[in-house]
Amino acid sequence: MTQPPLSRAELEAKLATLPRLRLAHLPTPLEPCPRFSAALGGPEIWVKRDDLTGLAFGGNKTRQIEFVFADLLAQGCDTLVAGAYTQSNWCRQMTAACARLGLGVSLVLAHGEKGPRLQGNLLLDRLMGAEVEVVDLDTLEAMQPLLEAKAEALRARGKKPYIVGPMQLSTLVLGTIGYVAAAAELHAQLEGQGIEADYLYLAGANMTPAGLALGLKALGSPTALRNFAPIQWQEPRAAGIARIANATAERLGLSTRLSPEDIWSSDEQIGPRYGVPTEASNEALRLFARTEGILLDPVYSAKAMAGLIDQVRRGRHAKGERIVFLHTGGTPALFAYAEDLGLDAA
Ligand SMILES: *Cc1c(COP(=O)(O)O)cnc(C)c1O
Repeated sequence: MTQPPLSRAELEAKLATLPRLRLAHLPTPLEPCPRFSAALGGPEIWVKRDDLTGLAFGGNKTRQIEFVFADLLAQGCDTLVAGAYTQSNWCRQMTAACARLGLGVSLVLAHGEKGPRLQGNLLLDRLMGAEVEVVDLDTLEAMQPLLEAKAEALRARGKKPYIVGPMQLSTLVLGTIGYVAAAAELHAQLEGQGIEADYLYLAGANMTPAGLALGLKALGSPTALRNFAPIQWQEPRAAGIARIANATAERLGLSTRLSPEDIWSSDEQIGPRYGVPTEASNEALRLFARTEGILLDPVYSAKAMAGLIDQVRRGRHAKGERIVFLHTGGTPALFAYAEDLGLDAA
């Protein structure tokens, strides 16, 4: 059974019932990329600048944090306990939110590709006062017990910790709501410019594509998502994204539901593994930097842009089509990846 679409005002009214902390600079700019479009010689490409959301170099996590941290405060917590990799954009933006709100922050960070070098996101975490423990883990699945132990130690010191684990569904749903709101924001911007977008490209794993897919479908938008995964998961991404989107729809009281067939997600640009740049991602990073003066990040957005370039070169997009590329941020990692970007100092 297909549901009639909601109006944007109806969707915004549903969103307005949820606790939210205003931390992001919104709306983020939506701008045409004429020189990049000309370089590809295909469709008209625009960029949605979610790298400019504001929290300590910005990025997509800031929209998600608005709902996650509203929950943290509602629970009366005073210290964040979170875990991911040393170059985590999520932990960096949460650390910035903690600094701004006067909360403590304790991070457990796995080495990942870049280990404990004091650069990029890890440098910023330390600058903003996070207590950091770097650990040797093969996968983030082993992270949760470490976070529980940290939280227990904090409780023994009279603190009220709030845990954000790498794969907690409750957190994923709150974060996804941030991107349902972003779908409404983009919808309004396109309408304001008097244009439609045929496609929305992005690098996404969970919350970002789930929220956008849900929001766009609820609104009956003609814009089709093209998601490029940065990491290989056990659960196929289309199924994972649909599952998270549906849990979020339930939380928001929306009747919209997604099936894996509704989600276009590709693993083609991952390369050898998560966090390792590829020739194609380096080319995309350089081309976008040199035609538009906009910096992508080596782990996520450059891989999605490599996917966009590949689709255009394969003739998948006609000249008259319009594509919006969502820049999800991550740019501090550029500095940690200096040696991997295919450039020389002189
Ligand atoms: C985390 C991140 C993503 C993926 O976001 P999800 O919400 O997990 O889909 C994409 N790009 C950047 C730069 C990120 O930091």
